[in-house]
Amino acid sequence: MSHDWQSLRIEGIYRQPVEGFAMLRVKLPAGVLSAGQARGIGALAHRFARGALHLTTRGSIELHWVRGEDLAAVKGGVAALGLTSRGACGGAVRGITCASQGNAAFPQVESLARQLQRQFTGNPRFERLPKKFKIGIFPDTVDRGHLIQDVGLVLKGSCYDVWIAGGLGREPQPGFLLEEEVSPGRIIPLIEAILNVYAAHAPAGKRLKHLARELGEEALRKLIAAQPSATQELTPPAGLPDSFVPAPTDSTRLEAPVFGGELSAEELVRLAGFAEIHGGGWLIINADQNVAFQIPGDVAPARQELIGLGFGGDGRVEQICFRICPGSHECRMGLAPTRDVARQVIDRLGLGAIAARWAISGCQNSCAQPQLADYGIMTTGLVKGDDGNRSPRFDLHRNQGEGLGEVLKRNLSTEELLEAVSSLDYAKAAGDGFR
Ligand code: SF4
Repeated sequence: MSHDWQSLRIEGIYRQPVEGFAMLRVKLPAGVLSAGQARGIGALAHRFARGALHLTTRGSIELHWVRGEDLAAVKGGVAALGLTSRGACGGAVRGITCASQGNAAFPQVESLARQLQRQFTGNPRFERLPKKFKIGIFPDTVDRGHLIQDVGLVLKGSCYDVWIAGGLGREPQPGFLLEEEVSPGRIIPLIEAILNVYAAHAPAGKRLKHLARELGEEALRKLIAAQPSATQELTPPAGLPDSFVPAPTDSTRLEAPVFGGELSAEELVRLAGFAEIHGGGWLIINADQNVAFQIPGDVAPARQELIGLGFGGDGRVEQICFRICPGSHECRMGLAPTRDVARQVIDRLGLGAIAARWAISGCQNSCAQPQLADYGIMTTGLVKGDDGNRSPRFDLHRNQGEGLGEVLKRNLSTEELLEAVSSLDYAKAAGDGFR
């Protein structure tokens, strides 16, 4: 069966490196899903995706190795769970990411993420965009995630600072502050104004950051301000709250570390059972590709149970925070086997590495956001050796808490990369304290 892969992107579907297979990405507003939904996703992964799934840095879930002929059944299965993959790839508003899990304001953020997903998913006005459009909501600017969104919303009291036109990829560009302290009632109309300008003025295949570069910040501001909805204020939605995760003020956060976001269907089902007993029935996929829970009761037995389920031991892999994109293991763009390289890097790191955030991307699309990690590894290309084999080259990035970080070392072979990480200060304690 042949497929028009390009037109399937809007359904959250990408081709995989092997002909006839595809990845389908499920959007989760603020990374939240219920235990029942997790069981359902686990069942779909078991039946259609070789029994495995991938947690992304944007809090989505990807099912890989779905056969082309099974895509419609998987889409139906996702819909039956009250979830969607619509717009998770292609020129559309992607899943609403959120790094506020554990923050006291998370219920406010979860509600807004759900409202934004409802407004912009499957809405013909906001599909067929020039390229992807990413929205993220953040409790503060500490992790700098707001800098890499098309629209980054940063909580300020009950309002939001609105940053726009950021992005990574081959031409990384930090976003700029469009407006301070925007009231919640203005967020949707303001994003509509930004989207209208983007759709009308950006060339096909270009992000909002390109438009900002081409026009300049001031011209882009003026275009947005001229949109009728830019100053519109909606009345708050009536009805019950849109937040379901136990409030951080009445619960304790617990996290199940998941190496590289790689989870088996069976593990997800186990975590769903854990969420039902301890987490109020809700799971959160966070930006570090882990599964988090808010535990309303006594957290000590819950922590022990989680370890008993196989999550959160004291080994090196469990303790070092390492965001990992699928790389050449599963992505057509991937130039390096990211998980293998990450394991090799982890083997060279000492106890001090626990305090740092690591990331590796299999190509310059930067899906693991290496420029935001304390240490980030970007695969930049392939080089043909004397034996005719092509091997990956890496840049090692360092971020010291400002902007998108800088390149520490360029064009490293795998061995040179391992040497470079071994010479970092905390690598000298390698082995100490780890199992
Ligand atoms: S960074 Fe590149 S290799 Fe990794 S998931 Fe994104 S597109 Fe694929």
